[in-house]
Amino acid sequence: MDLGIRGRKALVCAASRGLGRGCADALAAEGVDLTLVARSAGPLEEAAAAIRDAYGVQVSAVCADITTESGRAAALAACPDPDILVNNAGGPPPGDFRDWDRDDWVAAVDANMLTPILLIKSVVDGMLERGFGRIVNITSSAVKSPIPILGLSNGARAGLTGFVAGLARETVRGNVTINNLLPGPFATDRLKATIETVASQQQRPFDEVWNERMAQNPAGRFGNPAEFGQACAFLCGASAGYITGQNLLIDGGGVNLTL
Ligand code: NAP
Repeated sequence: MDLGIRGRKALVCAASRGLGRGCADALAAEGVDLTLVARSAGPLEEAAAAIRDAYGVQVSAVCADITTESGRAAALAACPDPDILVNNAGGPPPGDFRDWDRDDWVAAVDANMLTPILLIKSVVDGMLERGFGRIVNITSSAVKSPIPILGLSNGARAGLTGFVAGLARETVRGNVTINNLLPGPFATDRLKATIETVASQQQRPFDEVWNERMAQNPAGRFGNPAEFGQACAFLCGASAGYITGQNLLIDGGGVNLTL
């Protein structure tokens, strides 16, 4: 299926590894030129080179922390008028809310709510003027089914979700859509780190906890970043202009909601 976005420009945040990288690959496979953002230069340059080689698209790499004002400025300087924006950043740490002070909350809200909102603000009017825009925010299944130890994530992402629900219904008239993708467990470095922590807390082997978690999912496995990226690319397609303001779970059916 040709998604009709060949030659479009995408700014993909937090994209050297994991889910962001999956989105970058899938967009590049559709002929989209990319600007990728991540903090560590080495893996970012490697990802950019691999995508250029595999798909023959233009790829710029911006080494920056997207949760900072200077990081966002650098990303937008490299890609001032994207047709596609994929918002992503690392997730906040787990813990007990009694241990979190105001700074912890401000950091989570900054990274997982205000950063995507500020990037949307920077690009959405240009998209409307040009008559095409696709914005995808990577959030979490925790938006629909909050996870107690991820209180910082639950709170910050709920704020983004509420904001998007309003704006997405204003911009769709101008062929600019905004949707959220809600990952369940995906086999990425982040999930490995989480499971390493659980395994060490429970004094059990990593593989045992990893396999147990996979078996608990209705699909009997974790998701892989490539299939996440395909869903993102679909939402960015020319024919997806009637899909907006949605929160799409990609979780193997892990969250059981009837509606
Ligand atoms: P990951 O495998 O750890 O990859 C994170 C990517 O983002 C890396 O490329 C990293 O590169 C980059 N990054 C992180 N913080 C950044 C920042 N401040 N500025 C720029 N780049 C940044 O993580 P993931 O599993 O793909 O997760 C992506 C998002 O989905 C996170 O918010 C996570 O909480 C959420 N999520 C993931 C899962 C899952 O199972 N994987 C489930 C639910 C929600 P650098 O470190 O070099 O910056």
